[in-house]
Amino acid sequence: MVVAKLAELPAGQAVIDAVGNDASVWLVGGAVRDLMLDRTPTEIDLVVEGPLDELLERLGGEARRFERFGTATVLLGEVRVDLASARTETYAQPGALPEVAPADLENDLRRRDFSVNAIAVRISDGELKADPAALADLEQGTLRVLTQHSFLDDPTRLWRCARYSTRLGFNVDPQTKSLAAAATAGAISGERIGDELRLALREPQPTAVFAAVEELNPAALPEGFCPAPQGLDEALELLGDEGRSELLTLAACCKGVELDLLTRWLDYLGFSADERDLVAIGSRWVTAAPLRNAQTPAQIAAAASGAPIEAVALCGGDNARRWLEQLRFVELEIGGDDLLAAGAQPGPAIGAGLSYALELTLNGEISGAQKQLEAALKRCGEAAQ
Ligand code: ATP
Repeated sequence: MVVAKLAELPAGQAVIDAVGNDASVWLVGGAVRDLMLDRTPTEIDLVVEGPLDELLERLGGEARRFERFGTATVLLGEVRVDLASARTETYAQPGALPEVAPADLENDLRRRDFSVNAIAVRISDGELKADPAALADLEQGTLRVLTQHSFLDDPTRLWRCARYSTRLGFNVDPQTKSLAAAATAGAISGERIGDELRLALREPQPTAVFAAVEELNPAALPEGFCPAPQGLDEALELLGDEGRSELLTLAACCKGVELDLLTRWLDYLGFSADERDLVAIGSRWVTAAPLRNAQTPAQIAAAASGAPIEAVALCGGDNARRWLEQLRFVELEIGGDDLLAAGAQPGPAIGAGLSYALELTLNGEISGAQKQLEAALKRCGEAAQ
């Protein structure tokens, strides 16, 4: 049944053909889980009991190999196929990167995060192997870790738990919940948590994932973080298809996080300086009083120009909408050269003249190059005196 469903996925038949009657290749993890739930997997995960070379050759496509982990990724058209040699993972210290050693499929399944991800189907004959709780958990919609120390070994599983429970609408098993509540970030690298946070932001309901993280373990989020910020829907609608909607979402959630703590947290998570600044600036703009209180288009422009569009969207309200939809596109039809050609003296007065002409244009008091030039020259003359 799972193999028949695999055949219907883009690139699914190509994978089945490449595997042929090779009994060492298993479909695993999210791909099996999603097919069993009649959902479309985001990628095809394969485990090979042995080396990957032969299967990689039969699959063709462009492969990237990660020797240290015995894994590879192949792109077949648009479809990503993740391959891994069956392996065990042991953790020298909680949160450290695991030590990897070759293993059989049963042991490979034991290293996984949740029972519903510890299911494998052999592609050549459809045989199924799974953690003992997996099928009932899948049926009942339960997320359950496989060991008592799961979250200590790898604290990113807390985020994975929140992501899966939100996306799949699954409940977290009570014992798993109490283990999650006791987990600490320990020695884990911030970048790995940052990767999970980014994945959360790409989910259809990122704020629901944040709420799930907070419920599982509030210490996983910085103090002041709000998973359900007011005005977010309006801000996302104002931003439309432009800009970084995921950073806007994060900024909205971070409006109550003290600025210094926020920038340190974003640095720890491995955000680039540009991303960090956008989130930090955006998070402070939620109550941007000058923009909210502006009375004229020129005042709106004075408050909003130069700010990231995400920040303006977060401010919300009519003025933000007017800036984003209309005023930010208003430009002068003249430049400094036109003023010089008309006899103005070089110097700071040129800038003052142009600003004045733009202000009048924004306010609808003048339009067209001729009127702009006249206004700018007048202000230029005054400024030069
Ligand atoms: P998605 O649907 O979001 O792609 P997925 O379940 O396919 O999720 P991946 O991150 O692609 O998840 O990982 C593939 C499989 O590898 C998972 O189903 C799980 O079995 C295992 N896995 C991934 N990350 C971890 C982890 N941190 N700890 C244990 N097992 C993991």
